[in-house]
Formats: sequence, structure tokens, C-alpha cells
Amino acid sequence: MSDQAFYSTLQQKLDTLRTEGLFKPERVLASRQGAEVIAQDGRTLINMCANNYLGLSGDPETQKAAAAALEKYGYGLSSVRFICGTQTVHKELEQKLSEFLGTEDTILYAAAFDANGGVFEPLFDENDAIISDALNHASIIDGVRLCKAARYRYANNDMADLEQQLQAATEAGKRHKIIVTDGVFSMDGTIAQLDRIVELAEQYGALTMIDESHASGFMGKTGRGTHEHCGVIGKIDIITGTLGKALGGAMGGFTSGRKEVIETLRQKSRPYLFSNTLAPMIAGASLAVLDRISKSTELRDRLHENTAYFRKEIERIGFTIKPGTHPVVPVMLFDAPVAQKFAARMFELGVLLSGFFYPVVPMGQARVRVQLSAAHTREQLDKVLAAFEQAGRELGIIKNN
Ligand SMILES: *Cc1c(COP(=O)(O)O)cnc(C)c1O
Repeated sequence: MSDQAFYSTLQQKLDTLRTEGLFKPERVLASRQGAEVIAQDGRTLINMCANNYLGLSGDPETQKAAAAALEKYGYGLSSVRFICGTQTVHKELEQKLSEFLGTEDTILYAAAFDANGGVFEPLFDENDAIISDALNHASIIDGVRLCKAARYRYANNDMADLEQQLQAATEAGKRHKIIVTDGVFSMDGTIAQLDRIVELAEQYGALTMIDESHASGFMGKTGRGTHEHCGVIGKIDIITGTLGKALGGAMGGFTSGRKEVIETLRQKSRPYLFSNTLAPMIAGASLAVLDRISKSTELRDRLHENTAYFRKEIERIGFTIKPGTHPVVPVMLFDAPVAQKFAARMFELGVLLSGFFYPVVPMGQARVRVQLSAAHTREQLDKVLAAFEQAGRELGIIKNN
């Protein structure tokens, strides 16, 4: 406690964040997660900013499955997997995820952040090349940094640039090359062109990896993910993803792929070797979630109906959105202060959503991001649309017509 300058420098930096409007306050909820949440002040808000795509986070069935696993397996393991932290429920979930994703084997982590953080270093070294989309998630960027492989970056979803980077890595004589992309980019709802990526990978003898955090459970006809959506099931080498979004929403992550890869990760991946086992109640609930969405596409279908309805109606009202089909709907406001004011006004009108501006999105691309859920009712969506219309008129974003 003798270095006061350290603390005053931190305080100055925090103050700067505040004055620049970049400080991120935390919203405190007094209820479970759901289509509606209760704020700390007791107000009920319609929630349009959770990754709760299938509505399973606060769902009673998910909770019941977690409670059953809690009862059977206890609260936690106090161990990493390889010492005494592997229970039957973990092995069952790994097998179930492999079946669901169409892979050979799967390894669980405490978070997708750990899955991405621990996937590159054990598999690649300075002789290899990682070719990564410029908008990939922070955890991929950090994972790549922990690995000695050469880094190549291609412009977001730009297949011509990807090919140039593949050529550059080939000319540099790199031994193994891996193309890495988010299956879906969460700021824009953009879907990676996996069909084209797989073609390029075949042409250049490269491996492929996708992060399915915003896709597992609801993209593709049966919800298996972006690889199903793009018709390339079985053609992706490595799939990472989270249990903390559509697949139940608690926490946990996974890496899935060929058994040689997964076995290597069990031996060498540092977040797996040196971090505690995923809580058994989460593993049990995730199994129940996978069972439920494998039996019926009802939740997925409702999510996509809600998405199509909201996308159509918000444009009809006069807002500009990024076109697409994903339940992430960026409503473009372009100007950062307008986006902030808009989100604040929507909060007053009973709608919870988040504004994004530079540096999270490019300059001049400020927006509020809406995320649809299977749990939203048509009535709730109509209320949200009415609030959009009101706030949009008040702030002069849409014109009276
Ligand atoms: C949310 C997210 C993660 C992190 O997931 P956690 O399980 O919460 O650590 C990783 N990658 C992408 C693309 C994400 O959107």
C-alpha cells in the first residue's frame, strides 16, 4: 500500500473512461434471466440484450435438470479433470456434444474463453500459421497470442483477402495452416461463409476452426450450428463454443473435433489442466438442453419466427438495420451520443437493450443491438416495437409519416 501513484493513475484512467462515455456500468437485475426481467428498482423490463436465444436460461426445465444433477453429483469437484474431477455426467455431456456437432470427441472447459485460450498453443508452433478473421472474438485473439505460430489476419468475412493470406502463408513455407473464424459475428449478426472457407481450405491444404458461441443450438435446420447452416457438417476440423448462451446460459465451454486433437488438448491444454472442473449441475442441465433441442426444433423455430417478425417490423417503422437472418439485429443509429440517448430512453420506456459505439464497433457505426429469444411473445415484441417507434420519433431518428 506504499505506491499511492499506482492508485491515483488508475483513478485518472477510470475518470477518463467516464468523461469519454466509455465506462461500462453494470445493470443489476433482481430477478432470473428471461424475456422479462425485474430491475433493482422493481421495474419490469422487456429484455432484448441477452444471449438467451432459446429462452432456456431462466427456464424451469433447465433448472430442474440442474437440480437433479446437483442432487446426484453434488455441488462441485474441488479438482481438475485429470486428478479426481471427472464424473460420468461430464463424459456423457462430451459424448452428447460430439453427436450433436457431428464430431468424434469433445473436451469441456469452464468457459468458451478458456476453450479458445487453450486450443492453439498445444496444437501449433512457430512452423505453423493461424489465419484469423479480423473480427474474431477476444478469446481467439488471446489464444493466438499464447501460441508461437505465425499470425495472418484477413478482413472480416472477406474471402479474397483470406485467399491472399493463405497464399502468403504458403509462400512462407508454413507447415500447417488453420483458418479461424467466429461462425457468427456477434456485433453484426454476420454469418461466416463457411462453404467458401471450406473450399479454400481444401484448395490450400488448410485446417478450419469455428467458434460457435452465437450459433450452437439454433443455427441450421436442426440447430447444430453454422456448419449445418452452411452445409459443411463434418468438414470443419475444430469447433469451439459455449454453454453460456443458447445452450442453457449458465457457463461452460467446449472444443470438439477429431479424437487426436481432443486427446492432445486433454494432455496439454493449460486452462483444462490447471482449472477446476465444470460444475456437475451445469453438465447435467446441458445434457437435458441438448436432449430437448434434439427432440424438437420448436424453440429454434420460434426464435427464427420472432427474428423474422422483428426484422420486418423494425424496418417498416423506418429504422435501418444490418440485413440478415440472425437473431442479433443491429439497429443502426450511426452516432454514438444518439445511440446512448436512445438506449437510455428505451430503458425509461421499459425495454432493456445495449448501445454500442466506437471502439467496440467502427467509428460512425454506433447502434443498439437487439437480440431475439424464443421466449419473447408476440405481445412483448409489439411493445418493444412501439417503444422503438416512440423513442425514434422523439429523437428525430425516424420521421412522422
Ligand atoms: C461469448 C463468446 C465467447 C465466450 O464465451 P464464455 O463461455 O462466456 O467464455 C467466446 N467466443 C465468442 C464468439 C463469444 O461470443
